[in-house]
Amino acid sequence: MPEGICYLVGAGPGDPLLLTLKGKSRLGRAQVVVYDSLCNPELLDFAPAGAEKIHAGKRAGDHTMPQQDINALLVRETLAGKTVVRLKGGDPFLFGRGGEEAEALAAAGCRFETVPGITSAIGGPAYAGIPVTHRSHNTTLTIFTGHEDPAKEGSSLDFRAIAAAPGTKVMLMGIERLKTISQSLLDSGMDPQTPVALVREATTPRQQTLRGTLADIAAQAESTGFKAPAVAIFGEVAALDPKLRWFESLPLFGKRIAVTRTRSQAGALTERLRELGADAYELPTIRTEPAPDKRAFYELVAYAHSYDWLVFTSPNGADAFFGAFYEIYRDARDLGGVRIASVGPATAARVNSFRFQVDIQPEKHTAENLVAALAKETSVENLKILVVRPEGGRDVVSEQLSKLGAIVDEAIAYRTVPETEANAAGIARFQKDGADLVTFTSGSTAENFQKLGLQVSASTKFASIGPVTSAAMRQLGMRVDIEAETHDIPGLAAAIEKFFGTPKKSPQPSGT
Ligand code: SAH
Repeated sequence: MPEGICYLVGAGPGDPLLLTLKGKSRLGRAQVVVYDSLCNPELLDFAPAGAEKIHAGKRAGDHTMPQQDINALLVRETLAGKTVVRLKGGDPFLFGRGGEEAEALAAAGCRFETVPGITSAIGGPAYAGIPVTHRSHNTTLTIFTGHEDPAKEGSSLDFRAIAAAPGTKVMLMGIERLKTISQSLLDSGMDPQTPVALVREATTPRQQTLRGTLADIAAQAESTGFKAPAVAIFGEVAALDPKLRWFESLPLFGKRIAVTRTRSQAGALTERLRELGADAYELPTIRTEPAPDKRAFYELVAYAHSYDWLVFTSPNGADAFFGAFYEIYRDARDLGGVRIASVGPATAARVNSFRFQVDIQPEKHTAENLVAALAKETSVENLKILVVRPEGGRDVVSEQLSKLGAIVDEAIAYRTVPETEANAAGIARFQKDGADLVTFTSGSTAENFQKLGLQVSASTKFASIGPVTSAAMRQLGMRVDIEAETHDIPGLAAAIEKFFGTPKKSPQPSGT
């Protein structure tokens, strides 16, 4: 039996990009992942599809698994020879009981390693524009837990010592006890005017910050219903220049955006929207499948070299075409001297990824413009043109080229079908939180979104990647609030950014 190992991995505070490279690498080998409520569930996608994923709970009031049972589980799975990842919010050894888990593993003779993580105690404040130390303000940092009730007899928390310590104090847990805790700090002699900031769901697009002083923060938290999980920062650094609050000033900060592309394609748009601060999530409504008539498609691909032009109308078409091409041929030169046209930059980039250059690409990325660009370059009359396209509907490129006298064949490369499997999480999220905006990148994403029959709030806006998609949306009775000027992902993201307003240059302090 192979020797098992348990990695105690820090998941970081929430932003999935704050996982370390080592953490990602160890997740990639996991056979079992035991994770907490505070971990971003998206990180589980880094584990192999077949890995067992066990939720060990732990959120105030939701102790799904007692610590002893977690320890026993880790030991059992490791002794069974498995590669176990124990994924813990923030850093595993900062108030995460990782120390106890390491002891249990060591006592049982299990191999284990620790992969530190970015703790919410430092990463949380950083996303709220608070450096926990600053040369002009403090040289000391105290991190304490508010888990214990200070009124409890025999509490091990020494509030006098905490209050007397110079510099910044950061408290994890205990937001529910903020009133008694701040009172204890005041009673222990801390200045009532000490700046305090509370940051909840830090580093996620749902981050909220509340600012005040030691004297008034508890009352503010109560009146605004400020809830856990949050970190509290006490000290001068909590009131530095509002210009430092970069994260909450991102142009799309807090905007909830549902992205309806196929699962494999949604990533680029989701990532860009998140970069702009949006709470973007994937709600794939379609997926692509290979062409139903594989034989006909492969035959056309095999004879592609006999055409004058090869026309690509989508990145999916390029993938399907070159996938088939390299199954048939081993040498790129077998494509011969055929010239290549593409409808837009995303399609061209996909063609380029197979090491073929594109000879023509219209400035405005629509089918009509592609035909116009081709006709401008050459008389298409009697030219043999192979149009690579999806199944279904009519194809504007083929139709218009035929009208101009070209001999057109259509290689049906793939088809689009409704997504029925990979969308459960997205649907659940939409039903729970709704969206400020839903994005559509094709008529079929819109059509299949509508077929889901989800309850859409009247304030939800709809964005389209271009006129073709917009026309399809209108036909479905949908409003088009935003249409991209350039019909690709960066263009769509730019249009959304413009719609929701220009970047806030000097952020308003939240809370105070
Ligand atoms: N090991 C973790 C802390 C676990 S204790 C770490 O290093 O971050 C749980 C507490 O961490 C929560 O009660 C809260 O105070 C804090 N916390 C964790 N993630 C947080 C987040 N995204 N935003 C604010 N606080 C967070």
